[in-house]
Amino acid sequence: MAKCSVCGGPAVAFIRYQKRYLCRDHYIQFVEDKVRRAIKRYKMAGKGDRILVALSGGKDSTTLLGALSAVRDDIGFELVAVHIDLGIFDYSVKSREAARRLAQSLDVPLIEVPLKEVIGATIPELAKKSRRPACSVCGMIKRYVTNAAAVELEADAVALGHNADDLAVYNLKSFLTQDLEAISKLGPRTDSVEEAAVGRIRPLYLVYEKESFLYSFLRGLPFLHEECPFVDNRQMEVRLKEVVNQLEEERPGTKLQMVTKLALRIKDYPKPRGEIRRCRVCGLISSSEVCSFCRTTERALGKAMGPAVREYIRRKGVELGLIPRVKNTATG
Ligand code: SF4
Ligand code: ZN
Ligand code: ZN
Repeated sequence: MAKCSVCGGPAVAFIRYQKRYLCRDHYIQFVEDKVRRAIKRYKMAGKGDRILVALSGGKDSTTLLGALSAVRDDIGFELVAVHIDLGIFDYSVKSREAARRLAQSLDVPLIEVPLKEVIGATIPELAKKSRRPACSVCGMIKRYVTNAAAVELEADAVALGHNADDLAVYNLKSFLTQDLEAISKLGPRTDSVEEAAVGRIRPLYLVYEKESFLYSFLRGLPFLHEECPFVDNRQMEVRLKEVVNQLEEERPGTKLQMVTKLALRIKDYPKPRGEIRRCRVCGLISSSEVCSFCRTTERALGKAMGPAVREYIRRKGVELGLIPRVKNTATG
């Protein structure tokens, strides 16, 4: 049996691009070191910050919360999590259970936002009423609710679970379709817009997808293995993922090179045009007079629901003692 290159114990994994074997404990440490390094190198968070994690119950956000909770005391930030119950049949019931168990086991306060209760409709219902594909409505709703939670809870950043594989694929796709403005948003962090949008960070920037999965597995963190019934495996991303994996197979370390070089050049890509505005109805960031969340809910449900979402989160934040926020910047 192969031995850990650090301690000589039984190895559980081989890191090809480093040509070394690692045992369980050193593997966990290896992933957490990557997260710590990415946070420091790309200035994602510091002492006294409040970081919000959108916890779906799937493997990526589970690894994200697990690894962030392991490094939070070293860096001195605070964690809060939000889970959006999308109302996608049994899949959402199981996702919610996994998110609850994880947040409880890691001692992270969790705000649950059940869409049916808060806005009166689930994702399948909204998709039907607005005659749009479920994923397009769902992506917009998740972005809106997560940002609303971050603004209400005065978070300093929203942590996203994108790993190095995801970013390599998005980068390639954006390049092939010449959507260079989209590339400008693929870096390790984006900035906040005061009181309208909270900046986003990607602490798993240097972590491979396989590493993310094995980390959660080895730590025994609860996550849902099932995929959403609406997932579309014919997307261009799926094919590009195979290409990136093939390149990694031939030249180990390719994915890491892709994302670290991207981080170096991110400022050279054009930023999205158009002025940044605030939604007339809910006050959060928007590219037009009314944000797409308020517009979609107004059309499909007869009422713009942005203010109701903000109010719900504010109430839950007060109940959990997260609002008003007391900044903890004490040293030691
Ligand atoms: Fe939402 Fe589509 Fe993802 Fe399902 S697959 S959770 S509908 S974005
Ligand atoms: Zn070891
Ligand atoms: Zn709005």
